[in-house]
Amino acid sequence: MEPLTFRCGCSRRRIEDMLRTLSEAEVRSMVTEQGAVTVICEFCNRSYRLDAVNAGQLFTQGPRQALSAVHH
Ligand SMILES: [Zn+2]
Repeated sequence: MEPLTFRCGCSRRRIEDMLRTLSEAEVRSMVTEQGAVTVICEFCNRSYRLDAVNAGQLFTQGPRQALSAVHH
């Protein structure tokens, strides 16, 4: 199935890590505008698509110290 003989080191996890380096607002705006975030690997042209739920999880599951601590 794979047309390329070499294996790119990219993975969905790696793409997610890359997206985490962007600001949450930036990712959310992409979701708002396009309904999802699509990232295409520049090396192997594989595309990774994160829907709104996936994109939201990037930041809720991110650093242990959440930026918005919830107090009751
Ligand atoms: Zn790749």
